[in-house]
Amino acid sequence: MHQALNRKNLHEAQLLIGGSPCPSATGETREVRSPATGEVVGRFPQAGPGDVDRAVRAAHEAFRNWSQLTAYEREAAIRKATACVRNRAQEIGTLMALEQGKPLNQSRSEVTSSCDLVDFYAAEAARVTGQVLPTEKQDYRSWVIHQPVGVVAMITPWNYPVSLMSWKLGPALAAGCTAVVKPSPATPLSPAAFVHALAEGGLPPGVVSVLTGEGTALGEALVSHPLVKKVAMTGSTATGKEIMKRVGSSLKHITLELGGHCPAIVCEDADLDLTAEAIAYKAFRNMGQSCSAVNRVYAHKSVHDTLVGKLADRAKKLTIGDGVTDGSVDLGPMTTAAALEKVKRHVEDAVKKGGRLVCGGGTPEGKAYARGHYYLPTILTGLTPDMLMAKEETFGPVAPFAAFDELDEAVRLANDTPYGLVSFVFTRNLTTAWKLSERLEAGTVCVNNVAVNTAYGPYQGWKDSGFGLELSREAIYEYLNVKHIKARLP
Ligand code: NAD
Repeated sequence: MHQALNRKNLHEAQLLIGGSPCPSATGETREVRSPATGEVVGRFPQAGPGDVDRAVRAAHEAFRNWSQLTAYEREAAIRKATACVRNRAQEIGTLMALEQGKPLNQSRSEVTSSCDLVDFYAAEAARVTGQVLPTEKQDYRSWVIHQPVGVVAMITPWNYPVSLMSWKLGPALAAGCTAVVKPSPATPLSPAAFVHALAEGGLPPGVVSVLTGEGTALGEALVSHPLVKKVAMTGSTATGKEIMKRVGSSLKHITLELGGHCPAIVCEDADLDLTAEAIAYKAFRNMGQSCSAVNRVYAHKSVHDTLVGKLADRAKKLTIGDGVTDGSVDLGPMTTAAALEKVKRHVEDAVKKGGRLVCGGGTPEGKAYARGHYYLPTILTGLTPDMLMAKEETFGPVAPFAAFDELDEAVRLANDTPYGLVSFVFTRNLTTAWKLSERLEAGTVCVNNVAVNTAYGPYQGWKDSGFGLELSREAIYEYLNVKHIKARLP
């Protein structure tokens, strides 16, 4: 039985190493504070280099058997483990709402959809196929097979603490790799609970481990460990570059899903109700704390004002509150004080440089919001390239608008960023949709929708948004080595 979770009941997380829950070697712990109230809601172990070494060695040991199971055996073991997580979705979702701020309904569904994704890859285990190649001589034979790379270090952020971990765990475990996860210190409780539940669901000891802790030293020790053969990381571009330097010197496989600065182009023939609905969802959900959030809207001058009005109507109707006590609100607090400060800085900068606030632009009023990291869904017009929010990801609930005359100008502005994660296009004209999709520099283009991430669709950043594939059937190959077996028949 797991104790009831609420703010009165401090949650004490543990590491999971070699299948055993444990404190860190030093016994040190750190606090997790509620973004809604500032209260301490949990504690987590501060893992150190000794813990990293034990976890990686346990994963290395577990790899021997796990990689040798048949694909069907692995699929069955993974499905049994995710069934155990599903039984604890309420508890893990509550932890996420407590530490991340996302309302309970959304955090619970993040847990179950993460199980769905891991199950999607469990089924893919048996669909990894090789090739038989034609050879240059009668007595030669040539086969290509795929084999798991080994221990994978997984480094994850705080905005979707469970789902972004599942994007890595799913293909890695199905491929036959073992995993050591290091979640963000801002939100360690829910991903740790997810990993513990997988182990309780019967995954063999060491197949998946979790290390929690603050500071860069822990992540650096993990990605540098010589027995780690692949690093899969989601986070900021700056951290991705740091990790790249460390991993590069030891030539490990690497997948990096990094920052975004996603533009939406709204053409004069767009369905404005659909567009407003889509942008309201993608700019404000999870308080805009998403790498694929709509960060900039370029709207044709003939529809600009109408669209801004429609979006403002929707923004004003969004309910904001403590998503733990009322799980049905649309928006909770932002996760960290630093994230809130960045939004404030970006909005102040934009207003100083001539941006006009249409709605939001501050914290909601009232006692209920006094102690949390709250910010109102915000719409600005008059976005110009010199504004901070035109250059960096705001990572907050802000939709800034600029009006354009010609599509060429909109495409130039949309692409004028070091990032290349996702772009959005709204138009009823198929030719425009197709041509813009081809010209936008991003790994994903969504036309008339914002459903960026689906299990079946490949997801990959361009430019400073990273490289390596996540999601889609093909992502399992990110965790597999290719082997060409060439034989001469005796
Ligand atoms: P972050 O880069 O600060 O941290 C990400 C993870 O890296 C954390 O677990 C952190 O502890 C760890 N880390 C930090 N320094 C490290 C180091 N030197 N070595 C190893 N690990 C280290 O990012 P964040 O603030 O947690 O998350 C927000 C960022 O993530 C945003 O930039 C956002 O765009 C990005 N993100 C990208 C995607 C995507 O799919 N492309 C998805 C979600 C978030």
